[in-house]
Amino acid sequence: MRPSDLNPLFAPISSLPGVGPRNAKLFAKLLGADEDGGEPLVLDLLWHLPTGLIDRREQPTLSRAVPGTIATLKVVIDQHRPAPPGRSRAPYRVLCHDETGELTLVFFHSNRKWLESTLPVGETRWVSGRIEDFGGALQIVHPDHVVDEAGFAALPLIEPIYPRTAGLGGKAIAKAAAGALDALPDLPEWQDTAFLKQHRWPSAKNALEAIHHPVDPAASGEAGPAWQRLAYDELLAGQLAVSIVRSRVKKAGGLSRRGDGHLQAKIVDALPFSLTASQADAVDAILADLAELTRMLRLLQGDVGSGKTVVGLLAMAATAETGAQSALMAPTELLARQHLRTIAPLAEAAGLKAAILTGREKGKERKAILAGIGDKSIDILIGTHALFQSSVEFADLGFVVVDEQHRFGVHQRLALLAKGKAVDMLVMTATPIPRTLLLTHYGDMDATRLTEKPAGRKPVTTRAMPVERLSDVVAGVRRAVDDGAQVYWVCPLVDESEETDLISAEARFDTLKGSFGDQIAVIHGRMSGAEKDAVMARFIDGGIRILVSTTVIEVGVDVPQASVMIIEHAERFGLAQLHQLRGRVGRGQASSSCLLLYKGPLGEIARARLNTMRETEDGFRIAEEDLKLRGGGEILGTRQSGMPGFRVVRPALHLDLIEAARDDARLILERDPTLESERGRALRTLLFLFRQDSAMRLIEAG
Ligand code: ADP
Ligand code: MG
Repeated sequence: MRPSDLNPLFAPISSLPGVGPRNAKLFAKLLGADEDGGEPLVLDLLWHLPTGLIDRREQPTLSRAVPGTIATLKVVIDQHRPAPPGRSRAPYRVLCHDETGELTLVFFHSNRKWLESTLPVGETRWVSGRIEDFGGALQIVHPDHVVDEAGFAALPLIEPIYPRTAGLGGKAIAKAAAGALDALPDLPEWQDTAFLKQHRWPSAKNALEAIHHPVDPAASGEAGPAWQRLAYDELLAGQLAVSIVRSRVKKAGGLSRRGDGHLQAKIVDALPFSLTASQADAVDAILADLAELTRMLRLLQGDVGSGKTVVGLLAMAATAETGAQSALMAPTELLARQHLRTIAPLAEAAGLKAAILTGREKGKERKAILAGIGDKSIDILIGTHALFQSSVEFADLGFVVVDEQHRFGVHQRLALLAKGKAVDMLVMTATPIPRTLLLTHYGDMDATRLTEKPAGRKPVTTRAMPVERLSDVVAGVRRAVDDGAQVYWVCPLVDESEETDLISAEARFDTLKGSFGDQIAVIHGRMSGAEKDAVMARFIDGGIRILVSTTVIEVGVDVPQASVMIIEHAERFGLAQLHQLRGRVGRGQASSSCLLLYKGPLGEIARARLNTMRETEDGFRIAEEDLKLRGGGEILGTRQSGMPGFRVVRPALHLDLIEAARDDARLILERDPTLESERGRALRTLLFLFRQDSAMRLIEAG
């Protein structure tokens, strides 16, 4: 049960003053919709932390004001100079002075009435904004604040800068965040007080206040004590959750499943290749897990193309040997269908029946599949999230494989495990996860790595090129296609129209169609499943030579004969994503290449990313670099980074706290496994605050 004190934090954000129904939608976009697709909660705003600060404490006289800096100035308003009639695009100027000099305030597209009432001639006002030198005269274009003496008293001189979304300005977000802070009750202290003292860390509530209402930039920044404290809280909550899950899952007991190997042997015989040593080791580790009496919860990490699918399939065959069913869950329908194509014939060679269930199987077809699962005529069910709807009842589900798992968290793992009596679980991910992060997100799982690539893989030549050379690129693609190559051409998301010059896949398709006619097609997330399948099928059979796409092809698509990958606006992608995309090529006989098209000028981080891509194909090295580059204010959500997100922790700054958090969690649960002590109770509050309460439910279920 959630402590009732916390209720205001668990109210929908529209309960806050100033957040209306229209705003609430924008906030949902900003904060990421709630896991159940619902409105975000007040709590989510608390964790929406600023990426920087604006310091307006500087209050110089005009003679000492420094152009290029932000300052707050006390001036007397002298004169309004509206744009001349008929020239509405010319700015509206307001002239002001203090004893030492003059200042012009400049407004475009201004509302005259508002300006006249806000800046009355002859009155004194405080104005705050960036000072500019305009032909020797000082000016501020669109001051951030214009207030009178009373307003000045209330003006926050240090202002947090929040990550924004189009249509939702900084002021609205700050106001909502302030409302969320007001809703924050006094919190019990869950950290060890000696530990807090040693680090000079404030209480959680003071820390949140210091960050949302900064008074001292050094104390409120990401490297400061307030942020460190909350980062540690987040890490500890995560470590507690994974430890609780781990111990409960193990305790819940499993079945010892020992197959006799006859089905696995048939599948191995049917494979057109032999297993790599890495694959064989992984299968052995899984068979050992299955044979144990405790439940299996294992992570299989293998770079793109390392051949995880076969490992999963052999484990499913081993499960079938014991008479139980398996399910394989993929993150997208496209991937589920691809898995079916790979798996069904191999399963059949072993006399096993594989079927697919997604949102698209309806009516009679769906009924038949559900019946097959219920009467066990289906051994392997492949699908998307739809697999785990309550209408899907397995006769005897023994084993679940989750593919490309980085979109699933602890909660989802638990939901899956509840689908059978003693379900074993294998999670496969192509995101190479650095060790430190492995601990934070998968501390509940045993981990295996596929370190080897299947024999015959050729290195991918990677180059970076400015998009200005597009016509050379098109000519190069022409030559490659004439030589028989197949090409992926990836563009950032369709319809991010506010993002000015972002070329969508459709626009690019239109420009390339002129050169390539029938040989080119486009695929993106707005198309229906059937449309996507049709395009993929034609790319697979070679009818289409160039596939223009959004990142829908990012995860797991396997077309071995494709050998050229072009990534447009490569500077906008994270390293993990670039690596995933490049992994689509270099899978077949032909030598492959990857071209990173960028739009300059490149920032430092983007440049470092592109260099890393050129230097290495080692996914684990790329992941470590990624972690290093993601410092400071750069916020990467789960989506972009391919990594489960932190809300407070900034990997580059705070991961050295992880070991301590892990030890702490271990000690806490050893002494107080059900969190009953006074500190235990406080820690429950911590778990709720970081939405790790599914772990709580496990505790309460006993
Ligand atoms: P991923 O780990 O990215 O999911 P897949 O399982 O899709 O990789 O495998 C990528 C490709 O490699 C597939 O075409 C698969 O048939 C092939 N493959 C898998 N294992 C081997 C192997 N041991 N030798 C040769 N090819 C293999
Ligand atoms: Mg895969």
